[in-house]
Amino acid sequence: MFILKGIDQLTNAIAKAKKIRPRVEFGGFGRYRVSGSKGYYTVICKKSDNGYKTVECTCKGAEKGLVCYHAAAALSLHVGLARQQQAA
Ligand SMILES: [Zn+2]
Repeated sequence: MFILKGIDQLTNAIAKAKKIRPRVEFGGFGRYRVSGSKGYYTVICKKSDNGYKTVECTCKGAEKGLVCYHAAAALSLHVGLARQQQAA
């Protein structure tokens, strides 16, 4: 799990996601399934009570607090959906 502080944090992961192009499946708002090298990982995006945006992924990298490309791929979908919700 990592706390999302800004887009800079995601630059490398986004570049990797663009190269690998994982499949992202919508599993409900803030919940995504992203394809990886060893099957699907679940990514959970949420806002904590103190206003931090946290992102969880079930892969090994994220367990160590790394920003993985699964999270970046899920976030690009999540951000678009969050915008739509706000506009609605
Ligand atoms: Zn991951």
